[in-house]
Amino acid sequence: MPTRIAILGSTGSIGRQALAVIEARDDLTVCALGARDSWQLLGEQAVAHRPQAVAIAEPHRDDLAEALPPGTKIVCGEDAMSELIAATEPDVVLTAVVGAVGLSATLTAIEHGCTLALANKETLVCAGSIVIPAARAAGVVVLPVDSEHSGLLQCMASGRREEIRRAIITSSGGALRDLDDQAAAEATVEQALAHPNWAMGPKITIDSATLMNKALEVIEAHWLFDLPAEQIDVVIHPQSIVHAMVEFQDGSTMAQLARPDMRGPIAYALQYPHRPAVEGDPLDLAGIGELTFRPAEGRFARPVELAARAIRDGGAAGAVLNAANEAAVEAFLGGRIRFGRIVELVEAALHRWDATTARKKPTGSENPPADDRVTLEALLDADAWAREEINKQ
Ligand code: MG
Repeated sequence: MPTRIAILGSTGSIGRQALAVIEARDDLTVCALGARDSWQLLGEQAVAHRPQAVAIAEPHRDDLAEALPPGTKIVCGEDAMSELIAATEPDVVLTAVVGAVGLSATLTAIEHGCTLALANKETLVCAGSIVIPAARAAGVVVLPVDSEHSGLLQCMASGRREEIRRAIITSSGGALRDLDDQAAAEATVEQALAHPNWAMGPKITIDSATLMNKALEVIEAHWLFDLPAEQIDVVIHPQSIVHAMVEFQDGSTMAQLARPDMRGPIAYALQYPHRPAVEGDPLDLAGIGELTFRPAEGRFARPVELAARAIRDGGAAGAVLNAANEAAVEAFLGGRIRFGRIVELVEAALHRWDATTARKKPTGSENPPADDRVTLEALLDADAWAREEINKQ
């Protein structure tokens, strides 16, 4: 029996590449596809892959219905992604949607015992304290579809968890890596969007230029691999060939290398722990000639320090960091703030959040609220608070 896969966010970049990976294999099949607005493409995907059910935002229901092959069920509305999972009972749920929709669908997938392939890093950054304990309790495997975390997972296969000294993820340095601090702080939207190695959406490309993407990934690694902030490092590696390294206590460092191509991490998550063939040119190290590394220092270190702080703070700090960053990136793309303000504003928001939560602590209590007391409502409140903080700037 082929592995049955649901793709939430099938019309986005990860979703489309996942369909290409699945199409090339007989042992993988699509049982459900979900999108928000791109009903035309979703209709074409349904014709090509014949899922049992599809999800779309309510206003597109009638348009999509006409584009579907006969017998395909449509679900719409707020909980459409969750209903899609309940209706099709997939083996693997690939979540490549953004925002709160991704979180509730992730929790539904856990309830149904589906293996999770997470391409939406915000799910863990904001709600790792809810998702990971729920997955563990249900015996659900959570697999990363992020190149660095896929790399970490692959490196970790060569040793035992307690033998790991350090996990290291690489950063290309982003579009502004060769500018000095002054020039980077004043970079235009166009400069910041010109990523040298990966073609991605505008939000993540800006995150790559600020290195806030690495901050999110450090928090993601903390939750996925149960590592403290002190054991997760970032190095700048402009070629984006080494995606991650794991240093073991015997002094050996394992590295995962591949051309920058998301089909590799997608295929690994969909067929973990196996390595199905993936089309594409092999890695030609002799042709590349040189791989270089440098420490993430100065302005490149600040986002990583913020991530470590959010991990140590616990509670809703990850949600604050994520929401403040989203709002600040929007403000930059909208021409309302300079590039250099993005990280400054996130830092200020985290700082004020600490002060706010400290005030809420009962007298005599020195510890922040324990992670297990964070509710979904508290996370949503923290998210809204952080956006408001940034937008009043
Ligand atoms: Mg990544």
